[in-house]
Amino acid sequence: MATIRVNPDDPDPASIKRAAEIIRSGGLVAFPTETVYGLGANALDEDAVYGIFLIKGRPLWDPLIVHLSSTDMVKLVAKSVPDIFHPLSERFMPGPLTLVVEKSEIVPDITTAGLPTVAVRIPNHPVALALIRESGVPIAAPSANRFGRPSPTSAHHVLEDFGDSIDLLLDGGETKIGVESTVLDITRTPPVLLRPGGVSKEEIEEVVGRVEVFRGGTRVAPSPGMSPRHYAPRAEILLVDEEDMKKAAEDMVKKASGLLEKGLKVGVIAPDEVASFISNLPISVRKTGRWGEWGEMARRLFRELRSLDGEGADAIICILPPPRGIGLAIRDRLIRASFKGDPHSSLTIL
Ligand code: AMP
Ligand code: MG
Repeated sequence: MATIRVNPDDPDPASIKRAAEIIRSGGLVAFPTETVYGLGANALDEDAVYGIFLIKGRPLWDPLIVHLSSTDMVKLVAKSVPDIFHPLSERFMPGPLTLVVEKSEIVPDITTAGLPTVAVRIPNHPVALALIRESGVPIAAPSANRFGRPSPTSAHHVLEDFGDSIDLLLDGGETKIGVESTVLDITRTPPVLLRPGGVSKEEIEEVVGRVEVFRGGTRVAPSPGMSPRHYAPRAEILLVDEEDMKKAAEDMVKKASGLLEKGLKVGVIAPDEVASFISNLPISVRKTGRWGEWGEMARRLFRELRSLDGEGADAIICILPPPRGIGLAIRDRLIRASFKGDPHSSLTIL
């Protein structure tokens, strides 16, 4: 695959033009967004979208997010939008918020996995926006990783998963947010948070009032892609769930000692203060910034999971942040990464 380095703040028009031609002719282009790297194809081209599923190994029942460059493009892919679309788009678009609305005829079934709805987002990244604008079509783009693996936050991760099986990779450096967008179903009242992500539930509630969190199990899953095991490295993940920093450190040391006694290779992903408790043990430690700086942890999480995997860790101990703000998205990703039960069961993240 060809890789082109682009300036993430001001990509050169020739590179964007080349990428847009590939999209228009039915090819696949990986590109950076503010959340993670996306693997894009023309959302209105059935064959091109099929290519995404094929190379990701993504099941066809898992619908894709359709990326737009402006709210004007929504008219093309949505049959209608409910009133709360407007305050939400004004406040969060472009940004890491995906809204589920009724789809128009023009969107092929493969893009939405046969659902009567479509998920739309306007990414807040100059490269992604320029690419969509220049292509002149909505771009369906899931994360540019093989299905089930940790999402890619750098071009290197995309290469790790795909080698040269996609047409073009735009390398715009590391992504800023590091976890995927929040997915909100606004066809329901109150709106339902299907996936926590870059925009927090609290921020959304400031704009539209109460939001329900989809907890799974209570009814047919409205967001088919939310399989319990996801985002997972090869290593086993062990979670420490303590709001008190000292208790978290104690639990981590206990878990780490147990694993070391079994002769396992252990990695740890933890805030600086907690990680310092095991600095004398033979463990690979990845610090994620100070306790409470969960945005920093979000940025680094997938990268550290991949890197510990690369080192051959048998087990990775991770500290869970409290379920607020971006913490909810991190918990969601880590709980899914650690899941070992029936892949068809539902999962509660709160
Ligand atoms: P990804 O593209 O991997 O970030 O995943 C996007 C996720 O958004 C999917 O796995 C679905 O769970 C969710 N999604 C996409 N389209 C819809 C839709 N029409 N209705 C509900 N959820 C959706
Ligand atoms: Mg994904």
